[in-house]
Amino acid sequence: MVSSAATRVAARLEAGLDEVLGDAHRRGPGGPGRSADLRRDRLVIRSHDLLEPCPRRASRPADDYEDRVVTTRRRVGLLVLRRLWGEAPPVPPRGWRVDPGALGPTVRAVFDTPDVWPLQLWEWTRSLDQAGRAALAAGVVTWCDGVIRLVGTARDVSWCDPSLPIRRDVPGRAVGLAATLDATRRTMEGERLLVVTGAASPTARRVLAGQAVLVRTAVARRDRVARVTLAMPPSGQLEHHVVDDALLDLAVDRVVEHAALRVRPDDAPPRPSRSCVHCHLLDECDAGSEHLGCRPGVVAGPAAGRPVDDQDRRHQGTST
Ligand code: SF4
Repeated sequence: MVSSAATRVAARLEAGLDEVLGDAHRRGPGGPGRSADLRRDRLVIRSHDLLEPCPRRASRPADDYEDRVVTTRRRVGLLVLRRLWGEAPPVPPRGWRVDPGALGPTVRAVFDTPDVWPLQLWEWTRSLDQAGRAALAAGVVTWCDGVIRLVGTARDVSWCDPSLPIRRDVPGRAVGLAATLDATRRTMEGERLLVVTGAASPTARRVLAGQAVLVRTAVARRDRVARVTLAMPPSGQLEHHVVDDALLDLAVDRVVEHAALRVRPDDAPPRPSRSCVHCHLLDECDAGSEHLGCRPGVVAGPAAGRPVDDQDRRHQGTST
């Protein structure tokens, strides 16, 4: 049954998108019908898009993802946790818990089981040399170990399948919302969601939590979510977010703001910061170049501006 909160939030999302998108990215008559057109026209808004501090960069997201240890260890880690939890006896005795000591052998077993991997990820892993595979395995063990220390080993945690992105289309729109979600757990009060993150800002973490609930309930129109927990292995902390109107409205408003930027990128103002040094638009952005003290077209780096600090690296996802 769809809860009244989900219905209210879905209506807020629909009204907000109507206001900023009008007939753009609309499905049905006048919008894309064939699946090829829909794929081309679909506006995908991911959780991390909502965290972008510079409106101009948010309006033109970089398409520069590449597989590296730091960008793949979470997905491989989920394969490992799914296998570790999947080894539970069919009818576990009361209080049965996963053995965290089995982590190392399970990582090796997953590396020997191609059919559980997303194809593209498996092919990338196969392209690595021995040192590269060892680095990936070490990164996966570290990630899993950090998560297990925070989340525990209770049997009823259901780890997400990294082959199945958490993405839903907004009804009536060629707009897809994608969320970061690592695990779910059913309770009497409703579903609990788990997101593993290294986000340092409390507001960013709240947006991540809100987007996960938004995708799970208001767009998918399914389970009632009772709580979102953010696990932060770098700091060893868990942060619980109660699902209420304020959390959902924050997520909806961020999605609508972001959709407005994407559909009218020429109106998006620059907001220079230290992260300009890594920006894919720097060559064509006077404000960013000025902020860094260099001319457009000149490659910026630590010598042109300030030293690249840890926060810059975190923003780019290059931190371990
Ligand atoms: S260079 Fe800086 S101000 Fe310009 S778009 Fe990039 S992040 Fe924004």
